[in-house]
Amino acid sequence: MDNEQKVCPVAKKCGGCQLQGVPYKKQLEKKRQLVKQCMGDVRVLAPIGMEEPEHYRNKVHAAFGRDRKGNVISGVYESGTHHIVPVDRCMIEDEQADAIIATIRGLLKSFRIKTYDEDSGYGLLRHVMVRTAHATGEILVVLVLASPILPAKNNFVKALRAAHPEITSIVINVNDRHTSMVLGERNILLYGKGYIEDELCGNRYRISPNSFYQVNAVQTKVLYEKAVEYAHLTGKETVIDAYCGIGTIGMTAAAHAKQVIGVELNPSAVKDAIANARRNDCKNISFYNEDAGVYMRKLVAAPAGERVPVDVVFMDPPRSGSSETFLEAVTLLSPKRVVYISCDPHTLGRDLDYMRKHGYRPVECQPVDMFPYTDDIENVVLLERTRQGHESQRQSGTVKPGNYRYSKELRKVRTAASGRGPKTSKPQSGKRSH
Ligand code: SAH
Repeated sequence: MDNEQKVCPVAKKCGGCQLQGVPYKKQLEKKRQLVKQCMGDVRVLAPIGMEEPEHYRNKVHAAFGRDRKGNVISGVYESGTHHIVPVDRCMIEDEQADAIIATIRGLLKSFRIKTYDEDSGYGLLRHVMVRTAHATGEILVVLVLASPILPAKNNFVKALRAAHPEITSIVINVNDRHTSMVLGERNILLYGKGYIEDELCGNRYRISPNSFYQVNAVQTKVLYEKAVEYAHLTGKETVIDAYCGIGTIGMTAAAHAKQVIGVELNPSAVKDAIANARRNDCKNISFYNEDAGVYMRKLVAAPAGERVPVDVVFMDPPRSGSSETFLEAVTLLSPKRVVYISCDPHTLGRDLDYMRKHGYRPVECQPVDMFPYTDDIENVVLLERTRQGHESQRQSGTVKPGNYRYSKELRKVRTAASGRGPKTSKPQSGKRSH
């Protein structure tokens, strides 16, 4: 089918795919122009696109409610509102996930499960999130409920599994707050392991409902390979993986570095990261559950003899970009290279400006199209140190091998509810969360 004819019937109301109807090659060109505008003097390479740019989203969530006639509907929020636009099949979502959501919608009546009403606070089912693992085929279904009790839950699970034997786990997530966040903090296991496992760049990862995982597995491999290439690792480096999520970039880099330190705010992601390091027998990585800026500042403030020398920093902050605290600490730690991964060219451009003024040159930017049909674009940028930093202060400190740290002191730093940043599930009208 010609790209130009592929227009989704609910494209306008949903607003999630801003580039519907635009041929894929043109989409990539538009994105390249946008990145160039934000990037100043940086060399911007042609975006790496997908061969098959449909149904790439491995995380799908649907809001549940009722239409005016009282029929159960599921779909996405209409741009700028909390009205649900019914969606059965979506061009960018995983097809199995869409089919599972449709089945759940069909089961609700016979199980007398009411959908939740935001205004009255009455009802039970708020959202369904489905996560699929590209490499292993595992599928996790998360039923987001306003209370922990699902009537006839065993029979519900039976019926759902009978219709979709491909499902490997089912979890209730309790979200009893008046919030636009999809997920609450508490998960109750109904069936299976409670998470999916996926394989990426030679490692296996456990991904829990509340942890961030890139939504496009095919392009994530491309992105990580480019990021590791930019880092020019020789096996001798100490590397920081800031905003590390479940530890995927750090573990991909660990095979080529002396040691890696992962820093992440979301405790669920850090737990996954620790389990993942063990699972992959990755002994030269350790994790800290802390705000990345605060952690970096502590590294800077460490007494000279205990200071960990940092050679390379990978940073992959949420859409809002990094903080000045973090960026300042990076410049003080003075790594030779910084590899900045970003899903928002605007905040990336802003942060690159800061880095330019403080002794770093953004050398090259490789856009990777993780989000076809939307106007989002992922970028990986290599920055090199231009000034001699604080070499004289750099002492050799080593993070002990296998030291999967989750220290008490650092746990206290949890701030936001469940410690999630803006990149996690949140029904942003017209803009999907990654
Ligand atoms: N690098 C990972 C995750 C990137 S998403 C990957 O490729 O999968 C950004 C991550 O930053 C999320 O896991 C989010 O929880 C985390 N985060 C958000 N704000 C943070 C902060 N202030 N300090 C540390 N981590 C943060």
